[in-house]
Amino acid sequence: MSKTLQAIRGMNDILPGQTPAWRYLESTFSKLLQSYGYSEIRLPLVEFTDIFARAIGEGTDVVDKEMYTFFDRNEESLTLRPEGTAGCVRAVLEHGLVGGGQVQKLWYMGPMFRYEKPQKGRYRQFHQIGIEVFNLPGPDIDAELIVLTARLWKQLGMADAVTLQLNSLGSGESRAIYREALVGYLTERFDQLDEDSQRRLSTNPLRILDSKNVQTQALLVEAPLLVDYLDEESRLHFDGLKARLDALGIAYEINPRLVRGLDYYGRTVFEWVTDKLGAQGTVCAGGRYDGLIGQFGGKSTPAVGFGMGIERLVLLLETLGLVPATLEPVPHAYICAFGETAELAALKLAERLRDALPGLRLLVNAGGGSFKSQFKKADKSGAGYALILGENEVMAQVVGVKPLRQEDEQQSIAWSVLAEHLADRISSTPLSTLDRGESFSRSNR
Ligand code: ATP
Ligand code: MG
Repeated sequence: MSKTLQAIRGMNDILPGQTPAWRYLESTFSKLLQSYGYSEIRLPLVEFTDIFARAIGEGTDVVDKEMYTFFDRNEESLTLRPEGTAGCVRAVLEHGLVGGGQVQKLWYMGPMFRYEKPQKGRYRQFHQIGIEVFNLPGPDIDAELIVLTARLWKQLGMADAVTLQLNSLGSGESRAIYREALVGYLTERFDQLDEDSQRRLSTNPLRILDSKNVQTQALLVEAPLLVDYLDEESRLHFDGLKARLDALGIAYEINPRLVRGLDYYGRTVFEWVTDKLGAQGTVCAGGRYDGLIGQFGGKSTPAVGFGMGIERLVLLLETLGLVPATLEPVPHAYICAFGETAELAALKLAERLRDALPGLRLLVNAGGGSFKSQFKKADKSGAGYALILGENEVMAQVVGVKPLRQEDEQQSIAWSVLAEHLADRISSTPLSTLDRGESFSRSNR
């Protein structure tokens, strides 16, 4: 195939066979969020580059290596969003949504773009569901974010497959003191660091804790720990969060080296990880970023949020066999029409039925075909009934109703009572082709 007919590497088509699982995840999440009182926000996919550079921070993988940045026709530097928080913060400031201590509990979902090496669970266009909460400083909201994700795992049936890792990054000042200790420790071992980490030692040393290099990770085992440098307020916040999680019965593991790949975090950081997806095991990650809005020039505003990767969650659902079989309901009925007069009558009849029976799943044969071929298509669609219209039926204003999933005879039903006739039957039609066999035997009993 010519190169121009291929998608860009790491940017995937989500094909009809996969969209039901996506919609399932998205609708489960949005219903859950509604029940917790969160509102949706929809943000542009493109922002001024500066928004991300300032929020995420120089010296991070995202800003240094992963952004899709280009100049538009005004020679302005723009970037495809690599994550949702920066744009969301820009939006709430621009529209005055967080002024005067207003609380905002927001969620969004959509594509993100990062120039990474594509592999299982890691793509260049990927999708995130995210939450951002503003103006709630206490650990109770940190706990709420975690408990609602825990509920999501339960609803999806994957609670046993994920574990929660937790850390506190402390305040900016306590991190600065810790940074010096860490730099001291690593400078003595400079030669043993990987190249990226050597570079980061001067630009963004905390990021080294996040290194995926095995030798560097080994070196970090003995390194000073952030928890030992926590300021009093951050320690209280962290203790408060842990007490709430304990009260809620949510298990967690303290990971003192968890720092997250973005610069804006302080205090609480957390990740939900799974061992079922290989190296790409983080399915949800977030934390508190009380400093970011101030850094954007706004009034200091407490904020906390997370992002979860939809591709990884879909992979996990598939790996664990948790995608429900009944996601794509089969049609109730399929209209077969023979000849132009009947085809026209079928279109009109179909619309009348849809008016009369909201929720009716009805297919109308398109493209003509013999009796045999249309009947075959009706059967293949999974429909419970074939509705047959030929010239004689049109003349007599009736339709042949042939049950496809039971042994019953075909009946001739007048158009005037067809909706009523179907209404009685569609409630008992199976939801999915996958439980067809079962329904068939049930209706035979
Ligand atoms: P990783 O350490 O795996 O690179 P990250 O720390 O860069 O992740 P975040 O920026 O915290 O990721 O994004 C939140 C979530 O979005 C991740 O936990 C993951 O589920 C998902 N995610 C991030 N990058 C990608 C990607 N390139 N492809 C698919 N999902 C991703
Ligand atoms: Mg990353």
